[in-house]
Amino acid sequence: MSRSIESVAVIGAGTMGAGIAAASASAGCRVLILDTNPETVEAALQQVDDEARHLVTTGTVDADLQAVSDYDWVCEAIVEDLAIKKDLFAQLEEIRKDGSVISSNTSGIPLRQISEGMSERFRSDVAITHFFNPVRVMRLFELVPGEDTDPEVIAAFAQFGAERLGKGVVHAKDTVNFIGNRIGCFFMLSGLHLAKSFLQEGMKQETIDAVLAAPVGLPPTGLYGLIDLIGLDVMELVGKNLSVNLPEADVGHRYTSFPPTEQQMHDGGQLGRKVGGGFYRQTKSPDGERIKESFDLLDEAWRPAEAPNLGAIPTELGEVIFHDSLEGELAWQVFGGTLRYAAELIPEIADDVVNIDNAIRWGFNWVHGPFEMLDHLGPQRILDRIRSEGLQTPAMLKVLEDAGAESFYRNDGTEYLGSDGQYHAVANSAS
Ligand code: NAD
Repeated sequence: MSRSIESVAVIGAGTMGAGIAAASASAGCRVLILDTNPETVEAALQQVDDEARHLVTTGTVDADLQAVSDYDWVCEAIVEDLAIKKDLFAQLEEIRKDGSVISSNTSGIPLRQISEGMSERFRSDVAITHFFNPVRVMRLFELVPGEDTDPEVIAAFAQFGAERLGKGVVHAKDTVNFIGNRIGCFFMLSGLHLAKSFLQEGMKQETIDAVLAAPVGLPPTGLYGLIDLIGLDVMELVGKNLSVNLPEADVGHRYTSFPPTEQQMHDGGQLGRKVGGGFYRQTKSPDGERIKESFDLLDEAWRPAEAPNLGAIPTELGEVIFHDSLEGELAWQVFGGTLRYAAELIPEIADDVVNIDNAIRWGFNWVHGPFEMLDHLGPQRILDRIRSEGLQTPAMLKVLEDAGAESFYRNDGTEYLGSDGQYHAVANSAS
C-alpha cells in the first residue's frame, strides 16, 4: 500500500518530541502534540514558529489520545523505557487509522523488542525514526525497518524526512545504537580509555581535544569537550546498553564502562555542561572575569585551562595519524581506531559505506565520513600500518584489498565499493 504523510501526531513533548513537532509544523503539516504533562505540551507549543502555530493541536494523553485517529504519522518520543513504550503502542494501535504509519524515536531499544507480540498491522506499519538532538539543527535522520515492515512505509518516511523536513536520510538496521551512535559512541568511549596513557605521559587534555579535532576533520569539541556537551549520564547509559546488546565479539565491549576517574565524576554529579562542569567549566573570578578551568584527570582537581600544544604535527587533514610523535600516536589509536571499527561494521549495521559516511557527517559533523577519510588518507597506507602492528584487517578494508580496489569511492564520488567487491552507483549523491 502506498502511504503519504501530511499530518503528524507526536506523543511525548520533551526535548525530541517538541523538536519533531516544531519541524513538522514548519514543514506545513497538521500536528498534534500530546504528553502526560500539560505544562510540557505548552512548552513544546512555544517552540513552534508563530506562522505555523495554527497547524498545531495540543492535549494530554489521558484526555485526548483518541485524536491520533486523524493523523497519518504517529510518532512516539516518550521516555526511554520498553514497558512504557509498549503499553502506549498497544493503546495507539487500537486508535490509529488504517493506512497510517507509526514510529518510535528510541535511541537504543531494538525495534524487535517493541514489536514483539504486537499485531500484524503494527509490525507492517512500524519503523524507528531516529532524529538527532537538536532536531532543528541536526541533519541526520536514521530510518530502521523491522523484519516485517512494509517497504512502502520506509519509502514514505524517507520521502517525508528528505523532502518535507530537509533531513539527510540514512538507512540503518535494527542493531544496537544504529549507525551514528554506534560509531560516534565508540569514538568517545574508546577515547576515554585510550587517552589515559597519553595523559600519563604528560599530554594535557586540552591537547588531546585539539588533536582529535580539526587535524582529523572533527568539530572543535574533540573528545572531552564532546562528552561534556552530551553528558556523562547519557554516556553511562549508552555504555550499559552497549554492554547488553553489542555482539559478543565486538571490540566495543572493552570500553562499555568508564575508566575509574570518569566513573567518580559521574557518581559525584560532575556530568558536563548541563550541570556547570564536567571536564571543563567556566567560572568567574571575584572581579567578574571569566575563567576557563579544566578538571585534571590525573590530579582529580580543577586547574586553570591551558593552551593546547600541538607540537609540530602536519597541517594536512588527517596526516597527523602517520606522524611520529605522541600526538600522532594518539590520533592513530583513537581516531584511526574508530575508522577501523567503522570498517568492520558492514554489513552488520549498514548495507554500504555511503550510509555510514552520511550518518557520521550528518550526526557528528565530521568533515569526511570514515570511508571518505580512509580514501583521503589512502586505504593502502592504513592497511600497511595495520599489518605492521599485527592488527586484524577490518572487513571492508579486506573487501577493498581482495577486489584489488584503491578506494571506497570512484568517479568523483558517484560510485562506491560494495561489500560484494563491485562498484555501485551512489543513489543520492552524498553531500
Ligand atoms: P524527555 O525526557 O525530554 O521527554 C520525554 C517526554 O515523554 C516527557 O515530556 C514525558 O512527560 C513524556 N512521557 C513519559 N511517559 C509518557 C507517556 N506514557 N505518554 C506520553 N508522554 C509521556 O526525553 P527526550 O530526550 O525527548 O527522549 C525521547 C525519546 O527520544 C527517547 O526514546 C530517547 O531515547 C530518544 N532520543 C533522545 C535524544 C536526545 O538527545 N535527547 C536523541 C535521540 C533520541
